[in-house]
Order: sequence, then structure tokens, then C-alpha cells
Amino acid sequence: DPLLPGTASSSMYLSPNHGSRRTSRQEYDTEYDDDEGADIESQASYSTKIFNRLTGSYESVMGPFNKVLRQNDPDRINVKKVQAGNMHLLSAKYESLDYDVCENTLLIDEERTKGFRFIQRKDLYRWVIMIFIGVITALIACAIDITIEEISSIKYSTLKTEVDECILQGCLIVPFFLWIAWNVVPVLIGSFLVAYIEPVAAGSGIPQVKCYLNGVKVPRIVRIKTLIVKVLGVTTSVIGGLAVGKEGPMIHSGAVVAAGISQGKTTSLRKDFNTFKYFREDHEKRDFVSGGAAAGVAAAFGAPVGGVLFSLEEGASFWNQSLTWRIFFGSMISTFTLNVILSAYHGRPGELTYAGLLNFGKFDNTSYDFIEIPVFLLMGMIGGLLGALFNHINLKLTIFRMRHIYRKWAKVLEAIIVAACTATVGFSMILFINDCKPLGEDPTRYPIQMYCGDGQYSAIGAIWFQTPEASVRSLFHDPPGSHRLTSILIFFCLYFCLSIWTYGLSVSSGLFIPALLTGAAWGRVVGMGMEHFFSEASWVDPGKYALIGAAAQLGGIVRMTLSLTVILIEATGNLTLGLPLMITLMVAKWVGDYFNEGIYDTHIQLMGVPLLPWEPPPLSHNIYATEVMSCPVVTFHMKETVGTIIDVLTSESYNGFPVVDPPNPSDYEDGQVNFGTFRGLILRSQLIVLLQHKLFIETSESWDHKGVALKYFRDAYPRYPTIQQVHISDEERHFTVDLQPIMNPAPYTALNNASMPRIFRLFRGLGLRHLVIVNDNNKVVGIVTRKDLARYRLEKHMGKMRLEELTILDR
Ligand code: ATP
Repeated sequence: DPLLPGTASSSMYLSPNHGSRRTSRQEYDTEYDDDEGADIESQASYSTKIFNRLTGSYESVMGPFNKVLRQNDPDRINVKKVQAGNMHLLSAKYESLDYDVCENTLLIDEERTKGFRFIQRKDLYRWVIMIFIGVITALIACAIDITIEEISSIKYSTLKTEVDECILQGCLIVPFFLWIAWNVVPVLIGSFLVAYIEPVAAGSGIPQVKCYLNGVKVPRIVRIKTLIVKVLGVTTSVIGGLAVGKEGPMIHSGAVVAAGISQGKTTSLRKDFNTFKYFREDHEKRDFVSGGAAAGVAAAFGAPVGGVLFSLEEGASFWNQSLTWRIFFGSMISTFTLNVILSAYHGRPGELTYAGLLNFGKFDNTSYDFIEIPVFLLMGMIGGLLGALFNHINLKLTIFRMRHIYRKWAKVLEAIIVAACTATVGFSMILFINDCKPLGEDPTRYPIQMYCGDGQYSAIGAIWFQTPEASVRSLFHDPPGSHRLTSILIFFCLYFCLSIWTYGLSVSSGLFIPALLTGAAWGRVVGMGMEHFFSEASWVDPGKYALIGAAAQLGGIVRMTLSLTVILIEATGNLTLGLPLMITLMVAKWVGDYFNEGIYDTHIQLMGVPLLPWEPPPLSHNIYATEVMSCPVVTFHMKETVGTIIDVLTSESYNGFPVVDPPNPSDYEDGQVNFGTFRGLILRSQLIVLLQHKLFIETSESWDHKGVALKYFRDAYPRYPTIQQVHISDEERHFTVDLQPIMNPAPYTALNNASMPRIFRLFRGLGLRHLVIVNDNNKVVGIVTRKDLARYRLEKHMGKMRLEELTILDR
């Protein structure tokens, strides 16, 4: 039975339709309401039914879970162990960021007392922080680059000496095992750090940064520990010769730097510098993180505009004009700092020729002919197809990993095996492919002779005996005739497989470089074909086709368009190829999208993150707030007893609670409970800070709010204690808390007849966390959160597109 507000046990509001929390899911509830002991099979179908908006029917489409446990609440399933790799679930462990500023009495008072100068000072600090973000991100990039450069040069020169000696003495097994050791040891260190110390540092971090910019808090993603493991991890992965690059992780590193600096404290190291306190809130932090990600892109590719566009493309949901300019400034600072340091490192101080970590080098021939455009279109299609294949195989592999390679030691072992296999593949290619080129025609640093004649070197050896970035450059700039068709084709096939296997390993790694390298390989093959057919044409240059192939392959995998085009234009330093690059990337995306999603989105779905796409799902205009929202809503009154708050926070995991007026006794008719009039919204974190600092009084009479200060909330941000960590005596349970000065008195609301696209746009445009649904009389009838919207997804099923409802998995 619903509990009446203000009764001794609880003042939580429960609406009359308690027991059927969602209209759209009524069918499920009636099916299982009294069925606490439902068997695994039937619970599985509970969780996997989909609603077809075209036919208006429900259908069960997925396989059963391993083991499903349900809580008392009939609507939520508490799945202790579901079949890993299930892409039809949203995980409740991902909370949202609050982009909407809480304009409570405390904030208004602060603004009034500090005046306009305070606003100006804050703005000035934002620029200062951006400078710091740019400089520190660039310093990290330089540190990674120089370490990799130095250690790799020792690695490859040692290997070259060994190979050159052993080819004469017949002891090639020695350099082979030496190569394996050079790969395995760094990868072992890197994967150990990732598996045992900070698992979120695995991969490039771009999917996680994308989620953060979209408004989802990914746990531990912007911590200093993550940054340290990421930096060490990516350095070791590249030194270990894996099919990875260091560029992707730079985006993540920039994001962590931004999140750290803008807060003026590190919670991990328990150090508070007592600066920038006003930026300790989700809104400001997220803005800085977009700047950090952009600075990371700028440092990685020497692409400040590409950096801004990356942040815009991936996090465009909440954006403002002044942010664009500030982020661009931070990106420029980052590129400039990196350029100064790397130019000095490479012995050309002051020349500023090293704008980014990834240097594509100068293209001599960038002109293109009209008749090449169909070739670029075709290459875009090939890139799209290969990208879709990459994503498909990688998805299957990732699901396999989630189900079978989930123990830490197993993850480390797999990384080691891949490292050893990479060395074996490289060595076998050098050994068995006899592709000799005369010395002097290639800028390679460690030419090995192998079985080639005097004055010649192995072209395959040149590709393998350098970092993947250097190999990409070689394929772009090697003069025509530098490579044999068969050797490049074999290299492409093997490296393609290796890069699929490597992405998703428990190591920090970027995907850009392996994708560019495989693309450059098949692009060069296309270039050789063009050379063959148009041998007289001046515009034929295999390097140019290698670039287009690289773009197509990368675009087919990651499916970024605007930012990637600009990044590649900036990285080549040439605008002439802008159109071919754009056409190629566009076609690659369209073709790839026909088959599956981009690699980042695929991994985000596997993680169960409630990401809001750019647009509301199609076919959703006839879904109304009443179907999307949750009801009954757990609410509070303006004045609540400490005990009630503790009980609610302990029993419910929600992060936001509408504050309502107690209904008049006349509002109760025929035993029915009326809804409360909406007054504001309070967050769990705010309630916890109130209780932690004992900001309550003995009686419910008077309250001067003197003790309550914004400082408490800022100091506790972002790692608020849990309700279990707050100690309240039995006596204090009867004291009263006044929520009025703390709550957001005017949060966004929507009427119960609002359509889903309207609610969706509010969420995306304003970066909301909670949207309270009210009726015509401003009474709270429901609540919508990001997960309620993200759970609607358009999916292809048996050739038809339909709107699917995902299940929210309990934390
Ligand atoms: P977030 O996790 O995004 O920070 P939250 O923890 O408040 O927000 P969710 O985890 O998204 O909320 O909510 C899970 C489900 O609980 C959603 O279906 C949502 O509508 C519902 N819900 C959220 N808050 C309340 C509330 N106060 N009363 C009843 N249901 C709620």
C-alpha cells in the first residue's frame, strides 16, 4: 500500500499506479508481479523483449542470461552475472554529469556579494587554466615521444646489428628471440600496470572521453592514477612493437590533465592547492575536459582546428561560443609548446617544424586530376568495407575476451602472446619475403641487408625495423618502385589481422596509427595499379594514394567525419587534398554505417553506457513522457527529518529527488494519494554534504541558513562520501533539515504529454541529469533520467529497423 506523505515511517510519495512503474512496460509487470521466484528462462525473456513500434508488438530476440537475480522491486532486475558482451543492456553504474547549474540561494547570494569583478576574475582564470592545460598536455606528449624515440632507437639498432652479424654466421635464431624479448618485456610491464593497477587506462580512452563529453561519468576516467598508467602504458606498448600508436591516448591524457588542473586539487594524492575552487562542479569541469581533449588531439596530430572540431563532434551536445575560442586557444598553445620542444630535441631549435607527434611529412605531389575522383570514391568504399570487417571481427573478439579472458593474469598473458606473435610475424616476413631495394633511395634509419646483395637492403625489414608512425611516413613518401606488390599485400593482410587482435588488449594503445598503416599499405597497392595504367600521367603518385587509403581505412573504422578530415588536412599541411580526403571519409562512413557502428560506439555499447546520440531515435514521436518516465517518484518535502533522508538514501540509489509541498488533506479522495506540488530538485550529493556537516536543527521552526556555505559542496566535489560513511546519532535522526536554500528551485520540467523527441532534445541541448515530469497543476507525476532515454535504440532485426527498449542493469 502506498505510504502517505508525512507518516511516521516515510514521507516518500508513491503515486496511485504503484506497481506498474512504466506504462510501456505494463505487460512485463503483470507477467511477473507475483513471481518472485521466476526461473531463469522466464526472467531472461523479461529482459530481452523488444517493442516494435511499427507493428506495436513485443518480441523476444536475445539468448538467455547465465544467471539472473531479481530484487524485490518488480521493475528493476538486479543481474549479478549476465552473459558478458550483451549489447542490449544499460549499466546503472554510469551516472550522469550535471551540466545544468544549480541556481540555489547560496549561489545567488555568492554572486550578489562578490559582484561583477568576481565574474571577470573567473573568466580570466579560465584562460589561464587553458594555457596550463595546453602546456602540460604538450609536455606529456613530448615525454612520451622522446622516450619512445630513444628506447626504440636502441632496440632497432641492437636488432639490426644482431641480424647483420647472424646472417653471415647462420645464427638468425638469436635476433629472433632478442626481438621477442624486446617486445615482450615492455608489453609485460605495460599490460601488468593496466590489468592490475588501472584497467580504465586500457585502449585509447577515446570511447571513455566521448562518453564523458556526452555527459556520462565514467568511473576513474579522469584520475591522476589513470594518467600515469596511461602514459607508461602507451610508451611500453609502442616500444614493445605492438600494432598501436601513441596518438589516441594523448586525447585521454589531455582530458585528465584538464580535469585535474581546473579543479586545483588532486583527490588521489590528497592535495588541495586551494585555487580554482569556483570550478569545482560538473559544468565547468566538463568544459575544461573538452578543452583538454582538444589539446590532446592538437598535440598528437599538430591539428589545433581538428582538436576543436573533435571536441565539437564528440561532445557537441552542450556547447557555447566562448568555449570554442578558448578551446582553440588551448589547442594552439599545446601545438606550439610541442613544436618548440620537439624542434629543439631534433636539433632544429626555433625552426618549429614538428607541429605534432604524428608527422606525415611533406607531400611533393598533391595535385589531383578530375578523373581520379571516382578512384577516391572507390577507395572510400573499400575503406568502409574493410573498416566494417575490422569492427565486426573486433566485436566478436571483444565479446570472447569479456567471456573468457577476464582474469587479470589472462589479460597480461594475452598481451604477451600478441607481442611475441607481432615479432614472429615481422621476422617471418623479413625472412621469407625477398624484397630488395638499392640503398640510398629510402630514408630508413636501420636498413638490414638480410639475403639482399651488397648495396641493397630488405624493404620489408625497413618497414618493420621502425615505429609504426615512421612506417606510415615511409609508405607515404617512398619513391615509386620502392615496394613490391606481393610484399605490400602480405604486409597489409598480416598487419590488418594483428591490429584487430591488438585493439582491446589490456594495454594502453591508440588505433589511429595501425589503421593508417594498413590503409596506407593497400592505398599504395592502388597507387601501383594507377602507375601501371596511367604511367605517363604527372598526377599519379603512389604516396598520395597511400594517404587516401590511410584516410579511408581510418574513417571506415572510427567513422568520424568532420574532425578527421580536418585532422588529416592539418597533419599533411596541405589543403589541396582536402576534397579527396573529405569524399573518401564520407563514403567510408556511409558504407561502414550500412553494416555496423564505428569501433568506439561498438565498445561504448558493450560497456552499457547510456550515451545519447545526436538525434532522438526515429519513430519515437508517438512515445510520450508518461511512457518514458519513472513513477512513482521518490520525493522529499522542503523540511525533512534527518532519519527520513537517511532511510531514503540508503534504500534507493537515485541521485536526484524532486522536492514537493505536502498535499492538503482535502487532496486525498477515496483512499487515493495525490501528487505533490513541485518546488525544486535536490541531489543525493547535496543531501549527503548537508548530513555530513550536520547542517540541521533540532526543531522544524526557525532556520537562518548561516552555517550552510557553498564551500562545503565544493570541497566534497567530486568524490562525495556514501550515505553509509555519514555518522548520525539516534537523537539526530529526529532533527530537521531545510532543503530550501540548497535545492535547485527552478529546474527544467516537462509536461506529461511532452513527446520523447522533445524531452530528448532538452536533455542533449542542456546536458540535463534529471527532468521532472509534471501535470497541468504542476504536480510531480514522474521523472526522466538519461538512462530512460538512452534505452530506446533503433536496431536492425531480421532485415527490418525497429525501436528496441534496452534493460537497465542494476549496479
Ligand atoms: P544518474 O545515474 O544519471 O546520475 P540517477 O542515479 O538519479 O541519475 P538513474 O540511475 O538514471 O538515476 O535512474 C535509474 C532509474 O530510476 C530511471 O528509470 C529513473 O527514471 C529512475 N529514477 C531516478 N530518480 C528517481 C526518483 N527520484 N524516483 C523514482 N525513480 C527515479
